[in-house]
Amino acid sequence: MIKKRILTGDRPTGRLHLGHYVGSLANRVRLQEEYECFFIIADLHTLTTRPEKRHIAQMQEHVRDLVLDYLAVGIDPERSVIFLQSAIPETYQLNLILEMLVSVPRLERVPTLKEMARDANLRTMPFGLLGYPVLQAADILLPRAHLVPVGKDNQAHVEVARELARRFNRLYGEVFPIPECLLGDVPILVGTDGAAKMSKSRDNAIYLSDDAETVRRQVFQMVTDPQRVRADIPGRVEGNPVFIYHDTFNPDREEVEDLKERYRRGRVGDVEVKEKLARALNTFLDPIRQRRADYAARPRLVAEVLAAGNERMRIEARETMVQVREAMGLMSLPLQSEPTTVPAGLVYC
Ligand code: ATP
Ligand code: MG
Repeated sequence: MIKKRILTGDRPTGRLHLGHYVGSLANRVRLQEEYECFFIIADLHTLTTRPEKRHIAQMQEHVRDLVLDYLAVGIDPERSVIFLQSAIPETYQLNLILEMLVSVPRLERVPTLKEMARDANLRTMPFGLLGYPVLQAADILLPRAHLVPVGKDNQAHVEVARELARRFNRLYGEVFPIPECLLGDVPILVGTDGAAKMSKSRDNAIYLSDDAETVRRQVFQMVTDPQRVRADIPGRVEGNPVFIYHDTFNPDREEVEDLKERYRRGRVGDVEVKEKLARALNTFLDPIRQRRADYAARPRLVAEVLAAGNERMRIEARETMVQVREAMGLMSLPLQSEPTTVPAGLVYC
């Protein structure tokens, strides 16, 4: 039986954190067997808010970090394709075609784009940032993916991809499956500040590659129930970031229930709750850190993984573009120039 396909990925803007893990990575690892997976490192998407050369210069390091994080959590490059967006020429081609099939007001209704512009201190909306979901649709549709495991903040983008796939199929004929969005167990993990989602751009993340001491320090700086100024005051468990993390990462359910119960009654201090959380997080992260260090010690590994992934993705992308052009009736001329044959009788020197 032919496996269905997954496409998802990340922008190379930094290392991956616990939010990425629960929002998307856990599903990627879990579904690797069942689906044919394509994981994109979306460097072109980074240009939508950070086109300056100094940001581009940092990307190489970030790309390496992403690949190491992927391998560390258990993405297997023998089974799954890890590739770099800018290395696939067909991405730019499909993006342009899809741009014709969506209106500006539709894109203006995508809530995340204004936030992204604001977070990047942009005074006006760049054309490319408005087109962020269209480029993402090109990424999703190029491998003709069926499923897109992402965090909640990305759901509105996948919706645009679904609309574009439907529109394309209606106008030109069935080429694309309509991709489904798959949210993680925790669709949005709050940051350590308790104020916003955990994000690379805010200083509120615990990274998968943070060492044990850094994790502990971050946990001890976490916001808890602001009303609870002393340990003997009953506290709120619901919406409290420390307990959200306990629920998500501490497999010792009994310990978590006991802490919650005592917290509600004012019978436990923040120190004990946080000490146990730091321990649980470090137990969760230990094997990830270990694997990451092992992979990082292999100097050519990342380049090899990407070279193989790019090559594999290009094959799929070419195939899709043949189908796209055929469906559209676009260009019947040969697309690649034929290998030059030297006409008989002429001598080239
Ligand atoms: P940036 O701040 O640069 O936008 P980010 O941390 O938001 O970075 P992205 O590369 O935009 O990361 O997101 C990659 C994937 O991880 C997306 O599927 C996104 O939905 C998911 N994700 C990111 N942050 C979280 C979070 N806090 N909780 C759940 N999922 C998340
Ligand atoms: Mg983001």
